[in-house]
Amino acid sequence: MAVMKFGGTSVGTARAMQQAISIVAREEKKGTPLVVLSACSGITNKLVHIADAAGCSALDEAMALAGEVRSFHLKLVDELIKNAALKAGLASTIEQLCGRLEMLIKGVDIVGELTERSRDMFCSFGELFSTTVFAAAMKELGHNVAWVDARTVMITDDNFGFARPLDEVCEAKVNQIIRPLLAKGTTVVTQGYIGATKDGRTTTLGRGGSDFSAALLGAWLNDNSIQIWTDVDGVMTTDPRLVPEARSIRVMTFSEAAELAYLGAKVLHPDTIAPAVQKNIPVYVLNSLHPDAKGTIITNDPERLSGMSYEGLVKSIAVKKGQCIINIRSNRMMGRHGFMNELFDVFSRYGVSVEMISTSEVSVSLTVDDKSFSNELIQDLKSIGDVEIEHNVATISVVGDNLRMSRGVAGRIFSALKNVNLRMISQGASEINVGFVVEEPEVAIAVNNLHKEFFSAPEDHAIFETPAGSR
Ligand code: ASP
Ligand code: MG
Repeated sequence: MAVMKFGGTSVGTARAMQQAISIVAREEKKGTPLVVLSACSGITNKLVHIADAAGCSALDEAMALAGEVRSFHLKLVDELIKNAALKAGLASTIEQLCGRLEMLIKGVDIVGELTERSRDMFCSFGELFSTTVFAAAMKELGHNVAWVDARTVMITDDNFGFARPLDEVCEAKVNQIIRPLLAKGTTVVTQGYIGATKDGRTTTLGRGGSDFSAALLGAWLNDNSIQIWTDVDGVMTTDPRLVPEARSIRVMTFSEAAELAYLGAKVLHPDTIAPAVQKNIPVYVLNSLHPDAKGTIITNDPERLSGMSYEGLVKSIAVKKGQCIINIRSNRMMGRHGFMNELFDVFSRYGVSVEMISTSEVSVSLTVDDKSFSNELIQDLKSIGDVEIEHNVATISVVGDNLRMSRGVAGRIFSALKNVNLRMISQGASEINVGFVVEEPEVAIAVNNLHKEFFSAPEDHAIFETPAGSR
């Protein structure tokens, strides 16, 4: 039994939906899956615009955008469904949903105020549309399928816009509503991202939340795998736009995935997969455009890892552009306590997160996102020391669980970077990453050199080979 989550691009067109359905069909031969869908790509953004427009009395704009949402889904139905009666029935369901969306627009327009609660109502439509169309298309193809409203299962607190599930209630609902359907061989299609409070008010888990939905549902079902289907070949050794030789990683641990996500790689957000980590359920990241490619398995299962010859040293190289270095220098710092406290207090007052840090007795260098801070923050920093700012830099992080135990890695890293001007260096406290900062124009050369160093020697290839029958 698997939870299969398809992202927006994997269900964004009639072709993509057909492809996703054929992937589900393959899985159905092995066991009955739970299918969790995102909204079709671009739709949630559009719904956010509609909500904003309705909230600031731009009624015409909101209605026009709602018209686009309607025609997008009607066209999808038209392209996807062959049977005339089914097509008409589905079109009328879409019309009903659109009618509700328009009522909501008018309601918010009349009240003249957009609350977080009504924003969640707006955003919930995308997944309701995509799952409704998907389930109908599966039915037409003869699948035994049930559409389940996630709001009957994903019961959350009332923190609209970033609601968290009430674990025990949800688990009971899953056992009561979803498990019996799966047990009798009915594939279940439901929405990611959305939920409802105990008293039935619609909530969302935050943007990108459907991966989280899939991991939660997988954990409550205690299933044997969670598959995240997207439009890339799993997690890559580095950004393929920077290094054309980049390739997908066969297997990685949850801690590597978490570290990489924080460091800017395109991986699942660590909070997303936390429910899977707790139950030790492997997460597969797969490409719906290349369903036969192996993708990446994220797991802590040592057996699976040793089966995969897990001796690769560096797992991936993450890059975060658009960063800036802030140097704070103060003689007052020497031998004095409380300085760091004062310093970080400034960042925390402004809600700015500090990424990389390195210190000496009289100065501290740290990196933050270039767009995340204001002049006021810099003024406050100036009250505790001399401040220097260096814009247009990027952090590069070399990540791998095995870095912890290996000698000579730093030597290899720095010799690969001998022609690059390193602005800052830091070894992550987790010991599984070594990070540094370079000027943006030097990112490509730095990353290419590192990739060559760590991913072209034969012994470093081991992690990319999958033994037969591992999936
Ligand atoms: N459709 C939602 C979004 O775009 C949730 C998701 O796709 O994960 O944020
Ligand atoms: Mg997504």
